[in-house]
Amino acid sequence: MPAPPPMLSADEALVRLQEGNARFVRGEARFPTVQKDVLADLAKGQHPFATILGCSDSRVPPELVFDASFGELFVVRVAGNVLGASILGTLQYAGSHLHTPLFVVLGHEGCGAVEAAVESRFHGATHGSRIEVLLEEIVPALEGLDPRQEHDALLHAAVEANVRHTIAELRRTPEARARAAVGGMKLVGAIYELASGTVRFLDAE
Ligand SMILES: [Zn+2]
Repeated sequence: MPAPPPMLSADEALVRLQEGNARFVRGEARFPTVQKDVLADLAKGQHPFATILGCSDSRVPPELVFDASFGELFVVRVAGNVLGASILGTLQYAGSHLHTPLFVVLGHEGCGAVEAAVESRFHGATHGSRIEVLLEEIVPALEGLDPRQEHDALLHAAVEANVRHTIAELRRTPEARARAAVGGMKLVGAIYELASGTVRFLDAE
């Protein structure tokens, strides 16, 4: 068995994502193809340096946005980057088995799921039953928002509120509390800007 690559610290992992996004924005992404020897090596095991909870939106593929290669990111994608039983289970696996030092909740501007939750919460819009279940995960995040804002400003605020809500929910899990006590793990929010390709990392609250 080959030794696993040295695990990055949470801060090093964050810098790696920021540098990858900067390359992506500059049009200098590094990983157009993956060689067979890399695939053969990865077939022996995975050691991703970050876990990303992102949206299913076709315009926000985490590996491309962060210029990351195979085996580097452990990714969960669900409309509105919400939590739920299966997603929490997947994140627990990332923490307890893969030991990724960094967890990122990646929202994005113009998110259709967040917009649907805004319409549902403030304008009484209705959706299919399973979509409603999904939106129920987002609606509590909208509580502090002023619905009289202009549409784009409201959606912008709602996207960030949704990321912060998901982070807060994750911080409340027993696993996150345990790892926070030990140290070495980081949980950060980020927003992807569709037009520029830039990821804006949110300051911790
Ligand atoms: Zn979205």
